Amino acid sequence: MKVLVVNCGSSSVKYTLFDMDGEKKIAWGIIECIGLPEAYYKRQTSGTEEKKDSVKVTNHTEAVELIIKNLLDKKTGSINNIDEISVVGHRIVHGGEKFSKPVLVTPEVKEGLKSCFAIAPLHNPAHYAGIVAVEKMLPGIPSVLVFDTAFHQTMPDYAYMYALPYELYEKDHIRKYGFHGTSHNYVSQRAAAMLGKPIGELNLITAHLGNGSSITAIQKGKVIDTSMGFTPLPGVVMGTRCGDIDPAIIAYLMDEYPQYRDGATINNLMNKKSGLYGISGLSGDMRTIVKAVAAGNKKAKLAFDMLTYSVKKYISSYFGLLNGIDALVFTAGIGENSPSVREKICENLSALGIEMDVAENNEPSGEERVVSTAKSKVKILIIPTNEELMIARESKKVLSNG
Ligand code: AMP
Repeated sequence: MKVLVVNCGSSSVKYTLFDMDGEKKIAWGIIECIGLPEAYYKRQTSGTEEKKDSVKVTNHTEAVELIIKNLLDKKTGSINNIDEISVVGHRIVHGGEKFSKPVLVTPEVKEGLKSCFAIAPLHNPAHYAGIVAVEKMLPGIPSVLVFDTAFHQTMPDYAYMYALPYELYEKDHIRKYGFHGTSHNYVSQRAAAMLGKPIGELNLITAHLGNGSSITAIQKGKVIDTSMGFTPLPGVVMGTRCGDIDPAIIAYLMDEYPQYRDGATINNLMNKKSGLYGISGLSGDMRTIVKAVAAGNKKAKLAFDMLTYSVKKYISSYFGLLNGIDALVFTAGIGENSPSVREKICENLSALGIEMDVAENNEPSGEERVVSTAKSKVKILIIPTNEELMIARESKKVLSNG
């Protein structure tokens, strides 16, 4: 069975074609800068070299068309006929309160997704365009939507509500939703497999640390809290996002600076100009920060310390909410690849039974592994995330369940 996973961003379409017998990647790629002269198509088929070409694509439909043509190409393609694709799984950033699990696309589901445009104006319209484009290019092939927010829908009301006037929740659906749910879900399932226990018997904290980062408290397989909120801005310090700040700072900026009187400018400040980048003045990329710290750059060190401190604070507080954990999981670009970040976060957490094996933590490896000491009560795990595979699995499951 073949599953095509599609992730439509505002100006990009990313895809992976899986053979679910053995869960192997057959072909994958991305078209970026849609609508711009510098648009390009980067793609690869299993066992071959990566190819990259400039392309002219003005919208998502043309991008999907190019991808399907490429997959069908007689010489270099991966399928002979579109019917070989059993289902298309779409990554959707925001499902609001409407969608708490993956769903098969129907006209009603599409209307439901449209009603979530206001709370995810950057992402959901692009996803919608992608769904329509896939329907046009792959007529008769079912599509499934897999939501980044869905895994977090088990949070209790006292965790997801903000203490603002209740009518803002009723009218504007302002509440915590959480993001990276597909990743947190995937690594929690892998953690259960690594620990050899059913997920329903485990308490976990999963730390997805990438350009965007979020920490999630998972009790017996169900999310009880997560660090991102109504948007993917709050929580820990990130690459270019500020994470948690005093909300009154926004009112202060609006009052004091004429240029900050509109939401878009403030959003840009907090999402694109802050975090590691804003503090260091260098970069939002952790690799650059780590190098600069080693070279004695004080602001880079401050940025590094702030990020690791904020993650440690969330871990400690979620440890309390869960009344103890079986495992702490690190995943995503920084979580999987930065020993110094993991070490700093786990430093002095022995009171919580979290003890890192520093030598093991420093071993380079792209594999799933345990980096806690033998006597650590809590297992510290590094698990490479695989959101595409999770979407493929969920899509297959929805299809099999009819
Ligand atoms: P992601 O959003 O999951 O792709 O993660 C991107 C982040 O991972 C960027 O901040 C990268 O600098 C960081 N990253 C990737 N590899 C490393 C590494 N070897 N050391 C430190 N940070 C890394």
